[in-house]
Amino acid sequence: MDKKLIYATVDDKSSLLTALSDRIWEYAELSMMEVKSTAAYLDILKAEGFSVREYLCGIATAFSGSYGTGRPVIGILGEYDALSGLSQVAGSTCKEPAVEGGCGQGCGHNLLGAASLGAAIAVKEAIKAGHLKGTVVFYGCPGEEGCAGKTFMARDGQFRDLDAALTWHPGDTNEVTTGSNAASIQVEYSFTGIAAHAAGNPEHGRSALDAAELMNVGVQFLREHMESKCSVHYSFADAGGLSPNVVQPTAKLIYMVRGESVRKAKSLLKRVNNIAKGAALMTDTEVSWRQIDGTSSTVSNEVLEALLHKNLTEAPLPHYSEEEITFAAGLRTTYQVDGLPGKLTDENRKLRAYVAEKTNHGKSAINNFVFPYYPSTHFGAGSSDVGDVSWLTPTAQFDAVTWPSGCPGHSWQTVSTGKTTLAHKGLLYAAKVLAGSVADLMEDPAILKEAREEFRLTTAEGYDCPISKDIVPTIG
Ligand SMILES: [Zn+2]
Repeated sequence: MDKKLIYATVDDKSSLLTALSDRIWEYAELSMMEVKSTAAYLDILKAEGFSVREYLCGIATAFSGSYGTGRPVIGILGEYDALSGLSQVAGSTCKEPAVEGGCGQGCGHNLLGAASLGAAIAVKEAIKAGHLKGTVVFYGCPGEEGCAGKTFMARDGQFRDLDAALTWHPGDTNEVTTGSNAASIQVEYSFTGIAAHAAGNPEHGRSALDAAELMNVGVQFLREHMESKCSVHYSFADAGGLSPNVVQPTAKLIYMVRGESVRKAKSLLKRVNNIAKGAALMTDTEVSWRQIDGTSSTVSNEVLEALLHKNLTEAPLPHYSEEEITFAAGLRTTYQVDGLPGKLTDENRKLRAYVAEKTNHGKSAINNFVFPYYPSTHFGAGSSDVGDVSWLTPTAQFDAVTWPSGCPGHSWQTVSTGKTTLAHKGLLYAAKVLAGSVADLMEDPAILKEAREEFRLTTAEGYDCPISKDIVPTIG
């Protein structure tokens, strides 16, 4: 079909989509608390004629909307959760919280979800008009930031029946995401001791805080003996009371254990668990632990990545106004820019030269071009719950420009940009790229066949869900 029709639908729906994105930006709801955001999505999905499923996997803010019949069934993933402490006035080039201590869309998930929905609507219209055949499913995936919502959905049976899944992420480049990233497992360790007067009768006390500190020291010694691509991070969730003259009877640590694969993360976690037991033994305290969440490594699919790249180049790039370029340049003076933009520019000489030329050696305020695609085995040290989807169905993702060049993620600057026309233009572009890619998948079964064959080979070891059957998502 002529993709201009699909792009026109996105443009026709632009005010609906940008208004939705702005509402979600305003709501700025934290992980698994996205109640108003969910209601806003459900209203639109129902009004647009999608068959809606609510409370997916028993999660109040997980849902889907599907349209069409038969195969192929293509999923488009959306997110909408925010981050705490990042409230910010929109469109400002200086740090000024809109609500002191409030939350903000620091990862641009207001744009992410709205563009994914826009793509689903554009595909739906094409199916309705008889231009495409198949089923499109929009997935409302909660809690990306706080608790890996997609992993819970994956554990409980979602995504498996899809022929493919596509998604995107707001960013500072128009670029296919390639390579893999780390699996991760988050666990809370609780130490229990006996309170006592720290000077009067310390011999009766058993310090949970000492145990927690010894666990952290033990893990420091573990770090030398871990495989490469593994990492361990921690925080104190409870250090006992505030009085130093008390032997602290409680302490809690949260650990995040990362590995190249779920298998490696699980095996490293066993050693961390042993260190926790050792710390309890040394201090005559008790320890227990519970898993919070986990994510799998990402399996890339080069067939789908090439398709996304084709559609990134086919969809018309936005035109930015002088005002938008001035805003981007102004915001850019508020953060440090190191080197050239792009995930793989440092390791690919050809790409580096191309990007240097396109960005005037990294000086452009907005990277308004499509990065060439080079399949890569690049390993990112971070984690994403899109990884779990990628073990269940061929999956690919890309970044689209919604922020000025070099803009740091999870910052007040991303929140500030997230409700501007600059960001809206990226949202509409991303919707066109996604919808165009789904159209290709529905029209050319050979692409899906090839993507499935690649998937079969790369996931031969099977999905090893990083979370156990009994845990429930953490709220907030
Ligand atoms: Zn994000």
